[in-house]
Amino acid sequence: MLEYLRALIRFDTTNPPGNERLATDFLAAALGAEGIASVVLEKEPTRANLVARLKGGGAGGAPLMLSSHTDVVPVEAARWSRAPFGAELADGCVWGRGAIDMKAKGAMDLGLMLALSRAGVALSRDLVLAAVADEEAGSELGARFLVERHPDLVRAGWVLNEAGGFTLHLGGRRYYPIQVAEKGYVTVKMTVNGPPGHGSIPRSDSAIAALAELIVRINRTAMRMRLTPLMRRTLDQLGLDPQSAPPLFRAMMANTVAPTMLRGGYKDNVIPGEASVVLDGRTLPGETAESLLAELREIVGPEPALEVIKSAPPAEGSADTQLFRLIAHHVEMADPGARAIAWMLPGATDSKFYTQLGATCYGFAPVRIGPRTPYGALYHGNDERIPIDGFMWGLRLYAEVVLNFLGLRFDQVFN
Ligand SMILES: [Zn+2]
Repeated sequence: MLEYLRALIRFDTTNPPGNERLATDFLAAALGAEGIASVVLEKEPTRANLVARLKGGGAGGAPLMLSSHTDVVPVEAARWSRAPFGAELADGCVWGRGAIDMKAKGAMDLGLMLALSRAGVALSRDLVLAAVADEEAGSELGARFLVERHPDLVRAGWVLNEAGGFTLHLGGRRYYPIQVAEKGYVTVKMTVNGPPGHGSIPRSDSAIAALAELIVRINRTAMRMRLTPLMRRTLDQLGLDPQSAPPLFRAMMANTVAPTMLRGGYKDNVIPGEASVVLDGRTLPGETAESLLAELREIVGPEPALEVIKSAPPAEGSADTQLFRLIAHHVEMADPGARAIAWMLPGATDSKFYTQLGATCYGFAPVRIGPRTPYGALYHGNDERIPIDGFMWGLRLYAEVVLNFLGLRFDQVFN
């Protein structure tokens, strides 16, 4: 499975433009060689999605889907110490874009499907593999497309996806966050108009000046803190006080808006009549695009135009399920003394789309990480890499959970 990971990293599936078909061709060939048929669907050329299924008896319940995205975010190659698509083995790690986010889990998913097929064992429920495009750019051509246009292919009772199962070192203890909720997003363009004029005659009511003041106001105004029951429990388990929690956790306790793109002006000596900013808004479970806009309106007042560019709802599942307990049990067996906790992702994953088809989705892509590895910074960061021993540890744990949920023991499939 380490070699599957390295093979996947070597395909440059930077999104944009994506080219995920490079990865899905590889997956389809590997599955096909083992006699597993896959369905490949593209909304746009080269933006392929792959779904494969091993049939189970059904006595175990609704299907389990193992989901990953095959695209990755762009790299600034000059800032990397190794080739971003080289999949080099060095310093005990596999290096390359996607090593963490999220080709490692893609490789585990593939390996498990193949191992199950080879072992010829009976499954108590269907096992579905989904390897999808375009997650890093909103999933329009990936999970969203499959859910809206081919729901029967990806409808599952349970989904294991990214964004959980890694070691979180906090206060001298080890935790494994399992994602059961994620925020929604509401991308808003805020536009301000003002009198245009000559740059030689400054005016304080120009569009740029007014926009700058609004951005400062947004930055200085805390949005309403609201603890969902899940977050209250997470903070309790971590022993964190909501008022003094680190920024990562604060983002899980309120809607947020972050200015990310500025536009205004077209000539150095012309005061433009219009200026705009893109605000990356994120909504808590229970909130909507409208409620975020209303809260933003309270901060910026009635003047600026607010236009929603794109949005997707938040999602929240339950941590009180057989699968969650199974995950927690195996995590705590695999790393004695550590604790599995349920948590919310401030970002977005494909889980928000699979949830719409009734699935309970968990972020569980296990990898053991040492206290000195800057895990959070590796997501979309330079020098993305995964420790090989942590990958192997995660692989075993992942296999235990998946096989157990299919009514199997580890030694029935691996020896
Ligand atoms: Zn990802």
